[in-house]
Amino acid sequence: MSRSHPMPYRILWTWDSWVCDPFIAESYVAEYRELIDFAARTGYNGIIIWGFVDARHGGIEAARQVAGYGLQQGVRILPGVGAGGYHGYSMTPGLPYHLEDLLREKPHLRAQIRGSHMVEDHAGCLYQPEFQEWLREGAEWLAATFPIGGVNIETNEMEWICDCPLASEATRREPNRLKYANSYSDLAIAVPIIFQETRRKHPDAWVTYATYEPAWFRRMEDAWLLKGIPREAIAQWNMELDCDASIPPPVPENISLIHSGGWSYHLDAFPPTWTFTQYRCFWPLLRQAHQFGANQRAMGVQGLVLGCVGSAAMPDNEVNYIAYLEFARDPDMDFETFAAEHLAPLYGEPAAPLMLRLMLAQEELHPKLAPVWSGWAWFLREGSPSRRLLAAEESVLKEWEDQLALARRAREAASPEGARRLDAVTQVLDEYLRIGRFSRTGAAAAMIQDQERLRNNPDEAGAASDQLVAELELLEDIYGPRRGSGQDSG
Ligand SMILES: [Zn+2]
Repeated sequence: MSRSHPMPYRILWTWDSWVCDPFIAESYVAEYRELIDFAARTGYNGIIIWGFVDARHGGIEAARQVAGYGLQQGVRILPGVGAGGYHGYSMTPGLPYHLEDLLREKPHLRAQIRGSHMVEDHAGCLYQPEFQEWLREGAEWLAATFPIGGVNIETNEMEWICDCPLASEATRREPNRLKYANSYSDLAIAVPIIFQETRRKHPDAWVTYATYEPAWFRRMEDAWLLKGIPREAIAQWNMELDCDASIPPPVPENISLIHSGGWSYHLDAFPPTWTFTQYRCFWPLLRQAHQFGANQRAMGVQGLVLGCVGSAAMPDNEVNYIAYLEFARDPDMDFETFAAEHLAPLYGEPAAPLMLRLMLAQEELHPKLAPVWSGWAWFLREGSPSRRLLAAEESVLKEWEDQLALARRAREAASPEGARRLDAVTQVLDEYLRIGRFSRTGAAAAMIQDQERLRNNPDEAGAASDQLVAELELLEDIYGPRRGSGQDSG
């Protein structure tokens, strides 16, 4: 897209497993290529990838292909860098600069976590010169090995923040080290090192670093600590829908993250690992995108970062990513104009107003049925009783039926491309309705009553879930058993 955007940094924030499945090189490379194509087409110019180098999906070679393709398409790939926790520079043992390997070899570099002061075997102490040297070498390796467009740095989070004697001076100067999710003193150690090595190899790299929350205007007492960070590095604030336009940011380059970019997972009910955000759903977020965009423009930050991002293959993710970008471009745009300009090309002009109605309604309706779906979907897939055994409310199901009818009307009016998208939408809405209807039956109640026994009898639970998939006529590929392959969606 050639239209200019007032924000220079437009970034999608992903974990590998929210995008690809199975967790292998072919899927990793192919799915990220599609996401890169989507980004290039719509106007995003960066993708953060946590889990960038992982032996389970092709290690160094696959990661090199992804970064190379991004470079070619004008979409910067920014690997997540765990500068203290989160595995360092690569995810799995045996790969270069994998943090747990270092800490096993050199246990004296482990962090003493705040509170208990227990030693943590997957968090390092940034206050030791030997650890800083490892951080520098790792950054050099990452920059030399991959055609990256930047990095996304996170230092120790929450209780992983090191509270050893070497850090005591930092804590004296920054009492919030022991309170907030991250430490500006820690950032002031890690970011300059990584900045220097990354920029040495890639002079225009975006060196982004997570300040977590709260935003600067709620933490001005610590802002002076960020002065030790190179001015060209980019602070990433966990902004969500918080906003205060009266206090300017303490550093020159700022981007705002919202952990609500797009929730849909297109390959299965849940991702193969790290399932705490993505799941099979249809949840457009036009109002939220509008609010977020308007907030960022009011505060004058230079970029947006959509968190919880998976593939754009699902129609709700697709429209969400477009909406966050477009409402940040033009916060005064109304929804009707958005529909005419951005839904019509996807669904055809006659279907666009119907899609707008459907999307605005689903933004509020989806969360009312999602916990019910999630609980049962988890039972169906894993065969173990769910933590979310609430019965769906009749009024919600009635509204859901109206929404499904609206989606079917939109499909009749849609362009061929729009019809393809609406087939995906109606399929998901229909699955939710079937599961929601089931949750109000006596059979569901009996299953809930039986959960203790089912928990202790995996074979019986498995048989019950298989039978239910068949009875509810759900897609076997999506809801069929995949036992022991993941974790609860949280
Ligand atoms: Zn320490």
